Amino acid sequence: MSKRYCNYISNRVSPGFSLHSLSNHKKTHTSPILSPQYENNTDSLKNTFPDKYTISSLVHWASKLLQEHGIDSPSLDAEVILSHLLVCKRIDLYIHPDQPVEETVAMRYKKSIQRRSQRVPLQYITNHAEFMSLEFFVDERVLIPRPETELLVEAVIKKAQILTRENEIVIVDIGVGSGNIAVTLAKKIDNARIFAIDISPDALAVAKINAQRHDVFSKITFLCGDIFQPLEGCEIESKVNFIVSNPPYISSNEFHDLQKEVRDFEPYGALVSGQDGLQMFKRIIANTHTWLKPGGFVIFEAGEKQARKIAMLFDETRCFKKAAFIKDYQHISRIVIAQMEECRG
Ligand code: GLN
Repeated sequence: MSKRYCNYISNRVSPGFSLHSLSNHKKTHTSPILSPQYENNTDSLKNTFPDKYTISSLVHWASKLLQEHGIDSPSLDAEVILSHLLVCKRIDLYIHPDQPVEETVAMRYKKSIQRRSQRVPLQYITNHAEFMSLEFFVDERVLIPRPETELLVEAVIKKAQILTRENEIVIVDIGVGSGNIAVTLAKKIDNARIFAIDISPDALAVAKINAQRHDVFSKITFLCGDIFQPLEGCEIESKVNFIVSNPPYISSNEFHDLQKEVRDFEPYGALVSGQDGLQMFKRIIANTHTWLKPGGFVIFEAGEKQARKIAMLFDETRCFKKAAFIKDYQHISRIVIAQMEECRG
């Protein structure tokens, strides 16, 4: 597999990476090599599950099982899941290794570890993902927030700081998912008014949970529909300061090579966008001029080798200045920033 392909995939797919600094990046494209005696064989669980439930006996059992199923960080995952169920810090497990664990918790732990061994992402098991140092509720209805997306949020915050003459900063987030972008921007930009759009009502339900959790519900209007369509009637034509999006950008061919955690558990519609992965960018760019205020910005997250193609799409509209890029920690141009000309035509 080419380097480009490995990097591209590992950036989109890293279950376990953001929670407690777990890192799966290196092996993300390899298939798990399941130990034959464990494959589809739940009996083996019964055989090894401890009779006495203590912190150390459970973690020991779980680490071994996860290792046998080819999980990259078996001990870490085993500990994170147990500390989640015991509502304690990971460090506490080390302090009280012999502490007995109630049977109901032990049974829930067994089930959670079985799910992880089947490659359910850690974040869906703990219903927790960290983004910009904020805690987000996540489950199978939404994409797990990725650290690269923090670069997008930081770029918006930086640009918003220079818009001192605006009473209100109007932001449209397309594909809100868990609400990581919209909620963080609502928290960090005092005068933000955000329109958060998703085609999935399930995703919007999760985003609302997170808006409530972070006390920014009143700053965000949640809208269900396709791209800009639900903005009709909101009376914000030519008033939007920022259109932001981390749209699906994986091509339908690449989807099959994704890490199992992503391919089998994260929402397809949040990942894949047509045969070239660029469909959503094209559709968004084609309609920005209706909504964006002259001088306003479109800020996208993009896949590897997509940034320049997206910049060309902006060029073709003749409504934007030359696009700028921000590189991620792997030196991939990850964020595309395009500013609309001050006066059009
Ligand atoms: N806005 C969410 C995120 O950045 C969801 C994006 C998506 O569903 N493609 O993670």
